[in-house]
Amino acid sequence: MIDLRSDTVTQPTAAMRLAMSRAEVGDDVYGDDPSVNHLQEMAADMFGFESALFTCSGTQANLLALMAHCERGDEYLCGQQAHNYKFEGGGAAVLGSIQPQPLINQIDGSIALTDIEAAIKPDDIHFARTRLLSLENTIGGKVLPQHYLASAQALAFNRGLKIHLDGARVANAAIAQNIAISDITAHFDSVSICLSKGLCAPVGSLLLGDERLINKAIRWRKMLGGGMRQAGVLAAAGTLALTEQVQRLSEDHDNAAYLAQQLSQLSEFTVDLTAVQTNMLFVTLAPEVDIELLVARCRSEGILMSPGRTMRLVTHKDISRKDIDKVIRIIKLHLQS
Ligand SMILES: *Cc1c(COP(=O)(O)O)cnc(C)c1O
Repeated sequence: MIDLRSDTVTQPTAAMRLAMSRAEVGDDVYGDDPSVNHLQEMAADMFGFESALFTCSGTQANLLALMAHCERGDEYLCGQQAHNYKFEGGGAAVLGSIQPQPLINQIDGSIALTDIEAAIKPDDIHFARTRLLSLENTIGGKVLPQHYLASAQALAFNRGLKIHLDGARVANAAIAQNIAISDITAHFDSVSICLSKGLCAPVGSLLLGDERLINKAIRWRKMLGGGMRQAGVLAAAGTLALTEQVQRLSEDHDNAAYLAQQLSQLSEFTVDLTAVQTNMLFVTLAPEVDIELLVARCRSEGILMSPGRTMRLVTHKDISRKDIDKVIRIIKLHLQS
């Protein structure tokens, strides 16, 4: 199958499976798993933080960050389109008693600094206590500009807020700009990173922060049922995600740009090429196109897409340039029939 639904569908590499089978393991709740410890130490080092924590998912890493930064009755500022507002089941509110304060995302994915300023609540018993600014990079496949991160960091610092990055795809953001991941993460007090998307690990994310924050997060992770035992079999794959899969992301970006460029030449497709900056494209289909029919035709040819008038297509390791050419060919054939 050529699966364009998401980069979460990537299969672990042969090297990962081998590393998993050979991983030295121990009980990670006791801190005894050498493979988990190695991944955490390596990641903290790579991204410039004191500590790192291996988590079962990106959702868990974000929730732990919110619960470690904020107390009951606090709030975090985030985008209306933020994953940790819109797509995580309201976990911060449900499990953390933390109020989200969503703000409009600009076209480029940023939140206007004036909107952030205006949303910070005064110290007044009527209001939740504004504690944290949470950004996302990439967001909808778009890269937040480095100068914006610097300004947001300065604003947060000046107003006494902490600043978190949902960096599920921060490696894509770094590769797209030809900079180190640490050049991005340097602007944040904490960062979550998914190892199981474009980086191809089967399971797992990381939360990075200072030692105090990570120690709080470890406690919450245990309470949330995320204390894993011989998790080293997973961490071994996660280590290879960081050492072997980051540079390769540029191929996914090239494939997304190529697919976007080809589809934009079809009259039935509208594609904003400037928004295609990493491994994701959004295509809007003309009203005369029967989406269900198109998606069904593609499926019968071994191509998976999530249906919608605007469709998100995602490239990843398990989609080659040849696969992209097939997708273009099948879509053209279908539209002509
Ligand atoms: C996928 C994703 C997450 C959460 O990841 P899971 O591992 O699926 O829980 C968080 N933030 C963003 C931006 C994501 O794309």
